[in-house]
Amino acid sequence: MGKRISVLGVPFDIITMEQTIEQILTFMQGNECKSVYTPNPEMIMTAREDQEFAEVLQNGDLVIPDGIGVVIASRLGKNPLPERVAGYDTVQNLFQRMKDTSFTVYFLGAAPGIAEEAAQKMKAKYPGLQIVGWHHGYFTKEDEPAILQEINETKPDLLLVGLGFPRQEKWIAAHQKQLPVKVCIGVGGSFDGMSGKVKRAPVFFQKIGLEWFYRLLRQPTRWRRMLQLPVFLWHVAKENHGR
Ligand code: UDP
Repeated sequence: MGKRISVLGVPFDIITMEQTIEQILTFMQGNECKSVYTPNPEMIMTAREDQEFAEVLQNGDLVIPDGIGVVIASRLGKNPLPERVAGYDTVQNLFQRMKDTSFTVYFLGAAPGIAEEAAQKMKAKYPGLQIVGWHHGYFTKEDEPAILQEINETKPDLLLVGLGFPRQEKWIAAHQKQLPVKVCIGVGGSFDGMSGKVKRAPVFFQKIGLEWFYRLLRQPTRWRRMLQLPVFLWHVAKENHGR
């Protein structure tokens, strides 16, 4: 693996989208289960107060910047990240490559019905993609053995876990070693996007780095979460200054 930088204690691989896809496909041919996390500024701020979450991210096998905020933060330091590598796009690019292979995927997360709807939409979008199962993300400790058993039986090469952070990353770290899976990715609300329940910003907004602004217009209740971005950048600037 290549070089890593730290943004407020959270590591990031200095890697492009193209290299990310190659790396994950390489992981899928390996013998052990690798974890892929996609932190954004909110997650980094949470990790400052949640030591367990911080350690889980530090032990991630591949850590890529989901938000443009992380890329901007990295530019304040000596080793900038080359580009945003959004979790959603990473998964779409992987599906595009996987559809012509025997690699399989399992969807775990989102509200009841959503993962299944997402699976149907992705099968139609990527004919040949092998989705071997799905389960919603509102399960209890008692439901867990049955889910683990299904994953053990279907043995997906790729397990997408969309339970919201930090639960999805902690869940991956807790089960990674026992699962007959090659790669687990924490995907946040991606199943909502794949199912069509939540629309992504037009490409124009994504290209100019203003996807967050589009999401704010669509879901004004997000403003509270977004207020964390300036606070995050202030902490990063302060940390860099102290070096
Ligand atoms: N979720 C879940 N189980 C839970 C809580 C949340 O499966 O106990 C799902 C939720 O339905 C949504 C995702 O986790 O699909 C979190 O989405 P959000 O947009 O908040 O995450 P982000 O992509 O911003 O990290």
